[in-house]
Amino acid sequence: MKEKLALLIRLQECDSELVKLSAKKIKLPEAIVKMEEDFRLFREKVEGNKRKHDELKAKRSDAESRIKKLQDAMSKTRERLLEVKNNKEYQAMLKEIETAEKASGDIETQIIALMEEMDQLTGLVKQDEETLRQAAGEHVREKKNLTDELGAVDADTQAWTEKRADLQKQLPGELVDRYERVRKRNNGIGVISVWKAVCNGCHMNIPPQMYNEVQRSEALLSCPNCNRIIYFEDQEKSA
Ligand SMILES: [Zn+2]
Repeated sequence: MKEKLALLIRLQECDSELVKLSAKKIKLPEAIVKMEEDFRLFREKVEGNKRKHDELKAKRSDAESRIKKLQDAMSKTRERLLEVKNNKEYQAMLKEIETAEKASGDIETQIIALMEEMDQLTGLVKQDEETLRQAAGEHVREKKNLTDELGAVDADTQAWTEKRADLQKQLPGELVDRYERVRKRNNGIGVISVWKAVCNGCHMNIPPQMYNEVQRSEALLSCPNCNRIIYFEDQEKSA
């Protein structure tokens, strides 16, 4: 009987592993997707300063091309100035040049402000790049761990299924049936340990007489409460 009980315990171990593996098969791909999404959001956040820097850079180049246009217009006006005949027209053109110079000066002031802001951001962008570089390395490592784990699931499932089939062959059919019936009714656990007169499946007390019998493990006993096949395990020794 001790031998059969030992086989049943190992059969239970196989079934518990197979349950864990099928859960992994679902949860690991979900975890990988979530991880990718988390990293994408993190990167988006960290790259905020860089986006701002790029915006300022675009503004600066826009301002520079506006200055260039103004200067081109001014030099044309200055050329025309030499050919002007009357004073009124001359004064109007001088005014035009003056307005353009002022506009150009204002844009230059804006460019200086943009450059100062960009300078401040440059340091932050560098820090962010370093933060992102480290996080990306960590992300790749974690993703590889999950992917490797997922890759092992099929092979492990195969191995535990074979082991289970082998164990089942060594047990009488009616005992396997009894185990299966109890297991189906008890969240996948058909065999459970008992320690200090308490069933580890339902946490109810085992009557003293039965507890003595369990410790001798001469018969296959069932927990009077949850009906699981019980065996004695000294948890202080095994821990
Ligand atoms: Zn029980």
